[in-house]
Amino acid sequence: MVSEYDLTIHEAHDLLKKRELSSLELTKAVLERIHQVEDRVHSFVTVTEDIALAQARQADEHIKAGNFSPLTGIPALIKDNMCTRGVKTTCSSKMLGNFVPPYDATVVERLKAAGIVMVGKGNLDEFAMGSSTENSAFFTTHNPWDLDRVPGGSSGGSAASVAAGEAIYALGSDTGGSIRQPAGFCSVVGLKPTYGLVSRYGLVAFASSLDQIGPLTRDVTDCALVMNAIAGHDACDSTSVDRPVPDYTKSLVPDLKGLRIGVPQEYFVKGMESGVEQVVRQAIARLEELGAEVEREVSLPHTRYALACYYIIAPSEAMANLARYDGVKYGFSAREAENMWDAMEKTRQYGFGPEVKRRIMLGTYALSAGYYEAYYLKAQKVRTLISREFAEAFTKYDALVTPTSPTVPFRIGEKADDPLQMYLSDVCTLPVNIAGIPGISVPAGFADGLPVGVQILGKPFSEETLFRVAYAYEQATGWQKRRPKL
Ligand code: GLN
Repeated sequence: MVSEYDLTIHEAHDLLKKRELSSLELTKAVLERIHQVEDRVHSFVTVTEDIALAQARQADEHIKAGNFSPLTGIPALIKDNMCTRGVKTTCSSKMLGNFVPPYDATVVERLKAAGIVMVGKGNLDEFAMGSSTENSAFFTTHNPWDLDRVPGGSSGGSAASVAAGEAIYALGSDTGGSIRQPAGFCSVVGLKPTYGLVSRYGLVAFASSLDQIGPLTRDVTDCALVMNAIAGHDACDSTSVDRPVPDYTKSLVPDLKGLRIGVPQEYFVKGMESGVEQVVRQAIARLEELGAEVEREVSLPHTRYALACYYIIAPSEAMANLARYDGVKYGFSAREAENMWDAMEKTRQYGFGPEVKRRIMLGTYALSAGYYEAYYLKAQKVRTLISREFAEAFTKYDALVTPTSPTVPFRIGEKADDPLQMYLSDVCTLPVNIAGIPGISVPAGFADGLPVGVQILGKPFSEETLFRVAYAYEQATGWQKRRPKL
């Protein structure tokens, strides 16, 4: 039998329902696992053991009373850029190192209503800027499949905890790939939903026109279950779309007959590792065997401008969002200062790490008088072209399939001093945020013993199609059953 901490949500739920396992037993098994492996993996900024035990006891009461959802009593981790009332929310930044929010993010509130057992808050690259968690102001998370390597980022703590058995599922946020790239690197499922599908109220803003919250889970069924709980309109987020949310588990059918899938060649970029390409090509062949009609010669030529476009838009929005950290309203405040301006400068000098400062400078430059037209405005025009190109592709194809990332997880330190190399790890994921469409990364196997993810994209609000493709693939291959040896 698999260890309790290795169960999926739906497996654990079945046992809870049959009363063969209690939430308290499951929660203790997960907490025990955290104690065993956390000094090697470092997924957590904060472990909330007391909260977890109290919520587990409460969940057991609800289950006894027959009043429960598929998530009731299941231990989960929340990325530490989502507000949790009474629990530190740091964004892995010194700036918010002691920040305790007075309210819950909407997603947290919804998971509480669904019966979450929160085991803790997950490590990330500071303010979600990065692809490896090396930009965390506190420590780097290690990949459970190879402790010398990065788990990806910025939701590295979320992905690593789910892979390592430290949480049954996790929430992450994705501005340019931060759910899907770590999901690929840690061999778990990660979905970035359509822009507007999941409320960002209480998510600390990075780039507001790109940010989305989504699940990281051990299989596709679990991903659908978490989406059922968190998706849907929220009056507190003006970008949240008011439309009915389907039951995503209904799209979990292992059949792809009649489905049209396109493979955009631009995603097989120069510099891509051959092992990764091989795994992704095999996955595509598998989808064809499952009944999909696959077109391998699709071209989306504007893809090549996506990276440049992202690194103008995201820093511009970040620079504006981060202006609120002035040492006055909340967060870190430098006290030893000559006057107000000096205090503000010192607050930002000590409170922010180097990558965050780099983004603020890039954004300030791109928005400044004289450069605005050349950079920001141009990037917005390119953004429209990229969106249109996707929209046109989706008139011919139900889904597009690409690699999640051009490489396997890299070594800790390998790219830390080379921002351009680091930025390149998101070439396959960030066009998706630029267009606001949904994308899911699913485990597709291993290259040299290291995880590889395959990414499935669809038109806005086509999450059901993504789930269908991902589920059929997963059921046919069984990659989701692998667990790292720790
Ligand atoms: N790695 C990208 C960046 O650093 C994406 C991060 C994210 O999605 N939050 O901007």
